[in-house]
Amino acid sequence: MKLATIGVGNAGSKVIDRMVEFEQATGRDLCRHTLVINTARTDLAKPEHVPEDRRLLIGETHKKAKGHGVGGDAAIGAEVAQTEIDDIRRIFDDVEIHEVDAILVAAGLGGGTGSGAAPVVIEELQKMYDEPVYGLGMLPGEYEGGRPALNAARSLQSFVNKVDNFVAFDNDAWRSRGQTIEEGYEEMNRELATRIVTLLAAGEVDESEVGENAMDSSDIMRTMEVGGVSSIGYASTGVDTPDDGLLSRFSEEEVSNMESTDAAKIKGLVRRAVNSRLTVPCGVASAERALIIFAGPPGEISRKGVESARDWLEQETETVDVLAGDDPRTDSDTLAAVVLLSNVTDTPRINEIQDQAVDAQDTIQQQEAVREEEIESLITDDDNDLDPIV
Ligand code: GDP
Repeated sequence: MKLATIGVGNAGSKVIDRMVEFEQATGRDLCRHTLVINTARTDLAKPEHVPEDRRLLIGETHKKAKGHGVGGDAAIGAEVAQTEIDDIRRIFDDVEIHEVDAILVAAGLGGGTGSGAAPVVIEELQKMYDEPVYGLGMLPGEYEGGRPALNAARSLQSFVNKVDNFVAFDNDAWRSRGQTIEEGYEEMNRELATRIVTLLAAGEVDESEVGENAMDSSDIMRTMEVGGVSSIGYASTGVDTPDDGLLSRFSEEEVSNMESTDAAKIKGLVRRAVNSRLTVPCGVASAERALIIFAGPPGEISRKGVESARDWLEQETETVDVLAGDDPRTDSDTLAAVVLLSNVTDTPRINEIQDQAVDAQDTIQQQEAVREEEIESLITDDDNDLDPIV
C-alpha cells in the first residue's frame, strides 16, 4: 500500500517517525508523504525522519497555546485545529493524493493536541479526499490518571466515528518493568511501527519479487473497510540464508518431511502472533474480518502452512472472512507473520478507560462546584454586608 501519514501531537509524530525509520531500514516504501502537526514547537523538532517543511505548528497565535502546547486540554487542541483549518488544508496541497491508496493519522489519545486536533484533521481529510482515512491511536495507561482517560474516551468516539478503521495500541499492555517512561515509549513506538509497516507495506509494487500469492493493497483495504477498532498481532523468526541447490542433496522423503516442518513453522508463527501481545488485547472471536501477511523470503513461506494457518485463524475468529497472502522480501533474514483483527468489539481495556473517564468527569465536575462555593465564601464577609465595587 502507499500511504500519506500524518502524526498529530507528540506521540503521533514519534510513531510516524519510527514508521519511516523502520521502512527505510527494511527497504520498504510505504510512507509516500509524511506530515507532523503540533501545538508545541519543541515537540515539533523531535522527529528525525520528517523533512523540515513537513512540520506544521498550529496555535501559535492562540491566547493559551502560543506555540507551547495545549497543556493536555483536548478542547483547546480541537479549537486550534478548527481555527487554523485553512493552513492545515493548504499543507495538503503539496500531497499528490492520487499517488496514495490511503491516509493514516496517528495520535496519542490521552493528551490535548493529538486527541483534540486529530479528529478535526480527519474530518477535513474525509471531506477533501475519497481515499480511506485510517486512525492509529495510543491509549493512555491507567497509571496516567483520570484526565488522560477522559481525553482518550472522548477522542476515541470522535476517531472511530470519523475514520474508516481505527488501529488501537494499548500503552498499559505494552508497559515493561524496569524502564523509564521514555525508554518504554521508545520501545513501544518501535514495536508499533514494525507491526503497522509490516501490515500496510504489503501489496506495494516495488523491486521485491511479486508472487502469485502476494497480498494486494485492496485485500488489506477490504479487511479494514468494516470500520470499528482493530488490533494487530505479530511474530517473527530468523531464517537461514538461502543455500542454492541444498534440496537436491536430500531424498524425496526427507524433502517431504522438511515441507511439513515448514508448514508447522508457518502455522506456529501465526498462532504465536495471535496469542502473544496484540496492539490492543481483545477477544479474537469478536473480530469481523481478519488478514494474515507473511513477510519474508518466498522460499520460506510454505503453501501448506499458509492454508492451515488460515484455517486455524478462521476457527479462532469464528469468521470465514480471513485472507492470507505474502509480502515477498527475498533478502530478508526474518520471516514475519502479521495478523490484522478488524473490528474487534471485545476490548476490555477500552471499557476500563471509559469507566475511569466517567469517574474523572464526575470528580472534575464536583471539584469545580466545590471550588466555586469556596471562592464565593472566601470573598464574602460573614454577614454579607459588603458589595463589590463594580
Ligand atoms: P499531545 O502532544 O498533547 O497530543 O500529547 P502526547 O502525545 O505527548 O501524549 C498523549 C498521550 O500519548 C499520553 O497520555 C500517553 O498516553 C501517550 N504517549 C506519549 N508519548 C508516547 C509515545 O512516545 N509512545 C506511546 N505509545 N504513547 C505515548
